[in-house]
Amino acid sequence: MNLLDGKLVSAKIKEDIKKDAADFTAQAGRKPHLVAILVGNDGGSETYVASKMRNCELVGFESTNIRYDVDVTEEQLIAKIQEINADASIDGLIVQLPLPKHIDPDKITEAIDYRKDVDGFHPINLGRMQRNLPCFIPATPYGIMLMLDHYKIETAGKHAVVVGRSNIVGSPMSILLARNANPGNCTVTLTHSRTKDLKTEVLRADIIVAAIGKKNFVTADMVKPGAIIIDVGMNRNAEGKLCGDVDFENVKEVAGAITPVPGGVGPMTIAMLMKNCNTAARIQNGLL
Ligand code: NDP
Repeated sequence: MNLLDGKLVSAKIKEDIKKDAADFTAQAGRKPHLVAILVGNDGGSETYVASKMRNCELVGFESTNIRYDVDVTEEQLIAKIQEINADASIDGLIVQLPLPKHIDPDKITEAIDYRKDVDGFHPINLGRMQRNLPCFIPATPYGIMLMLDHYKIETAGKHAVVVGRSNIVGSPMSILLARNANPGNCTVTLTHSRTKDLKTEVLRADIIVAAIGKKNFVTADMVKPGAIIIDVGMNRNAEGKLCGDVDFENVKEVAGAITPVPGGVGPMTIAMLMKNCNTAARIQNGLL
């Protein structure tokens, strides 16, 4: 069994971004700049945004965190997004999800200029991704593709089963794995809560991507010997420790390769956000 070490791979990627950002700063006279909008006081969201800001500093970006109370209106938020869209000193904009119920996340996502949409959630970026055109790819699936590439995992002709069809992970993941590209060229099955006989589907997989949000959901009896396991889940176990959607201890005995939680997909996700922001800065300043 090979451990797919996201910490190691992401550190290397961030080193490259840091060099590139220094070069950008020398040419543009300012650092790449990421703005993160955070609404309310959700503990998880606060932690994610703080980590994104910390990583900006690490790679030599400027970062700004704009905070709103939970009762901010959709109109106020959209007005702020439009102001940022028009601000040439800002390269990337993310609005941390989830948003309070009175705000439509689709409206917010579509309000962001797709050229600053470094989360890759705007329909223009998603459409371009599906067409294999240059675009911002959502950070988590993008990180998984780079990890497969880094470890030279052959994907062409393989059967990939993605469990979970969210807009930010499962759904874009299925598109990327099926694209005529390398990595890619998989035969993909996208499964969800309405899938009948999930175990049989997952057992057929050469590559399993688990993005469900339920700890120990994928068990060893669901895994074909030698399969590649990508665990996206971020859950807490009874002791409060971070754990994935895969029963790591038992599945690792069957798998060909597996990502740990923590230290697998999570650090790759942050690195890909930095990579997208770096690209956005270069494109908008005519340096790419
Ligand atoms: P969502 O809750 O948006 O989606 C979960 C998906 O799992 C849904 O498609 C749902 O199906 C499916 N599902 C739920 N129960 C079952 C079941 N019993 N059988 C089959 N499918 C099921 O979650 P996300 O995609 O946002 O996140 C998934 C996990 O990944 C979470 O733990 C999250 O914290 C983590 N995550 C980790 C990231 C990282 O960087 N490591 C980044 C983003 C997320 P249906 O559509 O039918 O409801």
